[in-house]
Amino acid sequence: ERERLNRLRHTPALTIDGQRVELLANIEMPEDTLGAVAAGAVGVGLFRSEFLFMGRESKGLGKLPDEEEQYLAYRKAIEGMQGLPVTIRTVDIGSDKPLDGRGKAQDTHLNPALGLRAIRWSLADPPMFLTQLRAILRAAAHGQVNLLVPMLAHASEIRQTLVLIDHARAQLDNKGIAYGQVRLGAMIEIPAAALTLKLFLKYFDFLSIGTNDLIQYTLAIDRADETVSHLYDPCHPAVLRLIAETIAECNAQGKGVSVCGEMAGDVSMTRLLLGMGLRSFSMHPSQILAVKQQVLRADAGKLAIWAAQVLASDDPAALL
Ligand code: PEP
Ligand code: MG
Repeated sequence: ERERLNRLRHTPALTIDGQRVELLANIEMPEDTLGAVAAGAVGVGLFRSEFLFMGRESKGLGKLPDEEEQYLAYRKAIEGMQGLPVTIRTVDIGSDKPLDGRGKAQDTHLNPALGLRAIRWSLADPPMFLTQLRAILRAAAHGQVNLLVPMLAHASEIRQTLVLIDHARAQLDNKGIAYGQVRLGAMIEIPAAALTLKLFLKYFDFLSIGTNDLIQYTLAIDRADETVSHLYDPCHPAVLRLIAETIAECNAQGKGVSVCGEMAGDVSMTRLLLGMGLRSFSMHPSQILAVKQQVLRADAGKLAIWAAQVLASDDPAALL
């Protein structure tokens, strides 16, 4: 089966009815671009930059990566993709992704998943955030870069983020340091964000749906707690509705939309996501060929009609 899949590496991801589908890779380190290219990814849809910030003590590195270290890492990923687009997500530190010395066990907060995490953590430390933004903007001079912001929910957070991006550009201008253009994207992974899409579409060029957290926060199920994992249901009608509405709204407005949570690499969900109108999937490189196989067998027109029925059902999983 692996061998059969490997033959699909260079096959364009087109449905039977000719719809083009973008299959992108999720990466954690610049070296992961090797696997992404080998799997035939047409870009990186999610570079989880927090992995540059984690596990540093054991490697004898400083507490946080400085601008130069980050710039070199982003640039390496961009060069690794050989001209294909790379979406770099600003740090998602906190909760299940702690910094060294601030591990889950030591976290004194009762609900770290609801605490100082991701963009909240970045906005709480503007000099740290500006360092990352400058590094990403500089790396963007070497290729096609999308800058993606995690865990946004509030208009005030969006405004503060955009101000800091402008500020990072101004700092580089002042020093005469070269940087590139970026497309700006927001992750939709908090139900409040999925329910206020107009706000997001006003400010961003594209959206990326983080289903891992969207499921966690919609169903109030800790994504890392095994005692409730049987209730962590990607097919809950509420979850599917938030995903479907986000895709439909972006498509209606001509904005890019992608799914970058685990759901995007789950072959049992490919047909449903295609039926919802999704044309961009970002996943672990090891899943790309299997998802491509599903795409090649799919009729997007027929799936759209079927997906509407699934979305109207009380028990969507039974129809998959
Ligand atoms: C998600 O929440 O679906 C996502 C892609 O981000 P992460 O898994 O890194 O939180
Ligand atoms: Mg997330």
